[in-house]
Amino acid sequence: MRQSFLFTKTRKEAPKDEVSQNAKLLIRAGFIHKELAGVYSYLPLGLRVLEKVVGVIREEMNTIGGQEVTLTALQDKKVWETTGRWDDTVLDVWFKTKLKNDTELGLGTTHEEQLTALMKDYIASYRDLPRYVYQFQTKFRNETRAKSGIMRGREFLMKDLYSFSADQKSHDDFYEKTKQAYSRIFARLGLGDRTYVTFASGGSFSKYSHEFQTVTDAGEDSIFVDENSKVAINKEVFTDETLKSLGLSKEGFVEKKSVEVGNIFSLGTRFSDAFGLNFIASDGTKKPVIMGSYGIGPGRLMGTIVELLSDEKGIIWPLVVAPFKLHLVALFDKEDKVRVYADALYQRLTEQGMEVLYDDRDQRAGEKFADADLIGIPYRVIVSDKTIGENVLEFKNRKTGETTKISETELQKMMAKKTE
Ligand code: ATP
Ligand code: MG
Repeated sequence: MRQSFLFTKTRKEAPKDEVSQNAKLLIRAGFIHKELAGVYSYLPLGLRVLEKVVGVIREEMNTIGGQEVTLTALQDKKVWETTGRWDDTVLDVWFKTKLKNDTELGLGTTHEEQLTALMKDYIASYRDLPRYVYQFQTKFRNETRAKSGIMRGREFLMKDLYSFSADQKSHDDFYEKTKQAYSRIFARLGLGDRTYVTFASGGSFSKYSHEFQTVTDAGEDSIFVDENSKVAINKEVFTDETLKSLGLSKEGFVEKKSVEVGNIFSLGTRFSDAFGLNFIASDGTKKPVIMGSYGIGPGRLMGTIVELLSDEKGIIWPLVVAPFKLHLVALFDKEDKVRVYADALYQRLTEQGMEVLYDDRDQRAGEKFADADLIGIPYRVIVSDKTIGENVLEFKNRKTGETTKISETELQKMMAKKTE
């Protein structure tokens, strides 16, 4: 993409009321636009990153047998009354709305109810199980504190998967499979080292649920971590009783601030009982379906990456989610020699399938470099009168700041090999 064509511009200042580092940088670099506290639009660069995060999650969900759908954001009050969660004191983050005839509707905060009701039309026999259904969908939550930028939106994208199993054993197997798929996702996104599978409160059907907590000062949660065993326990359940039930002692656990990037939950028969989601087992008896729910916030992940991978100059995207893999920065001369050269180079690189952002704007070198640092594309190629004279390209690594002179063929080879 030609940068002169991109409608967004970088800016020196973030909105004054913005306190989080992720939103400040993402707004300044033109990835997102703030509409309200906790409500952000994704702009071309931001959407490219979000879609890459989504792409990694989708691959891993498909690998474990997930089938993708999109459920509706407008939800039927009656469906929610089935479990008692329409009540604002039971679920305190509701956004509700009305039809012209005053029929009340909810804006989806989550989709357990809706999907359980839907699956009644499709699950009748043990032959219809197991089923794993997931979506990427906008959730609406009237969060009280929305100070963490895209890490806590009032409108945000969630990947939510729901499992429908015939018995506890097959549920437990899938739960374990999802746990591993989640670990692969966070590792692929460069957060593996700091993301812990964390024991958290389990609700009524299992003793614990598992949260995936990424250690960062920007997080709103607190966990206790034992670095040696890699065991982590959410502060909310870090009690003598929990430690005893897990056969652990307090020693070695250190408190850390973290953000919940994912969550997996055994639901038992809570929803299937409420909706009468039963099936006929192979022995002819009627049984309730055993369910689980598994969430990840792609926007929260994107915000977490920015919090962890940035410096005083701007963002440093890991290659997997970078909006473009290469930033071609041309420093134009008066005679257009550099422009002609850089245009042709840009065309060749894009034709080879490389994702290139080409800074073809008539800006000063200093401004171009500052913008490139802020936007944070991992690799940069600088073309100038001087590099053309020397018959080289100047190659710069955003993370290390290292600069080398290479040929176009070397650039192609290097980029083809790069994985991070
Ligand atoms: P939190 O305790 O941080 O509010 P939650 O327990 O409400 O999170 P879930 O309902 O389990 O979160 O949602 C599944 C996933 O969706 C979370 O693990 C997180 O990644 C993401 N998520 C939840 N709330 C938000 C939000 N307000 N903005 C962005 N992502 C969110
Ligand atoms: Mg919440």
